Amino acid sequence: MDSNYPTNRPTDDAYLDDDEEPRLPTELLNMPWIDGHNHAHTLSWDDRERYALSGCEGMVMVSSGYHWTPYKPVRASDVRFLWDDAINRRAAIERNHFFRARLGLGIHTGVRIEDPDELLDAMDDYCELDEVVVVGETGVTPSQHVEAWDLDEQRAIVQAQMELARKHDLPVILHTPNTSNSSGRQYRPEFGVPGYEKNYGLSDDPVITGENPALEAVKIDIETATDAGLPEDRVVASHADQNNTEYLMEETKCYLSYTIGHSWLIGVGPADVADAIDEYGPERIMIDTDCANILRTDPYAVKRAMFELYRYGIDTDAIRKVVLENPRDVYGFSD
Ligand SMILES: [Zn+2]
Repeated sequence: MDSNYPTNRPTDDAYLDDDEEPRLPTELLNMPWIDGHNHAHTLSWDDRERYALSGCEGMVMVSSGYHWTPYKPVRASDVRFLWDDAINRRAAIERNHFFRARLGLGIHTGVRIEDPDELLDAMDDYCELDEVVVVGETGVTPSQHVEAWDLDEQRAIVQAQMELARKHDLPVILHTPNTSNSSGRQYRPEFGVPGYEKNYGLSDDPVITGENPALEAVKIDIETATDAGLPEDRVVASHADQNNTEYLMEETKCYLSYTIGHSWLIGVGPADVADAIDEYGPERIMIDTDCANILRTDPYAVKRAMFELYRYGIDTDAIRKVVLENPRDVYGFSD
């Protein structure tokens, strides 16, 4: 006990043992990080500034989502517009915020596209661009919006993108479907889920059935990579969760990217990442925010997770590997 405090009567400090003070991980305060999957080009300027303020060094802005194609059925030209919008704004985003903004362009199967071959032909040329560092997000989807898309056709679209990735030496971001929503209670169907702008009533009947469609979808995606000759370590399974971690870690060589920018929706957070690092090591693990304007998302999510991982017992070298080194290497930010 240190009795030298001039306080009126003893405070906690008089009892605390100086020798047991924890070492503060101050290196985390300024550790840069890379968000390998977001839709920041759909966010506000202020949200993108939040990335910069919290140490974001680089990001992959993914342009593929059906949420932003207003017309149904969707045509190739609608998706091209999304790609072109991202290309059009990317350089100005970099100059405004100083982080490096790179692009992922893909064909999402969450909504059926009328003329996908036209899109695949065009994609070959887009993949030549320096700013395009990854194909995706893509991957077969158990159920579509508005109109179902036959599983064989979805699979062909995904495999064709895997082939383009192999041809252009690019990785692929998979959109792995999630199973989790912790409370188990459903909202009134006519209102859907608050915080996610989606007309839930327009979801079609699933084209993948069985006990675990979400995991089945991931297994099909990995088969397409194999069939396309794309090495598994060029595949990043985004939205990794408890349902697919064991399969992806033990039966594939893919990277697993845990999406922590909307934990309230998919039930995945820093504790799941810490568990995965404890069990499998940090070599194939990343985290991403998936922040987008159609969702309640948090641009500070990676920064918050870095502190949370440390509190959960993960050392700073492993944190650096997960938030910086792995995405930097896989998406070529060091080139
Ligand atoms: Zn996304």
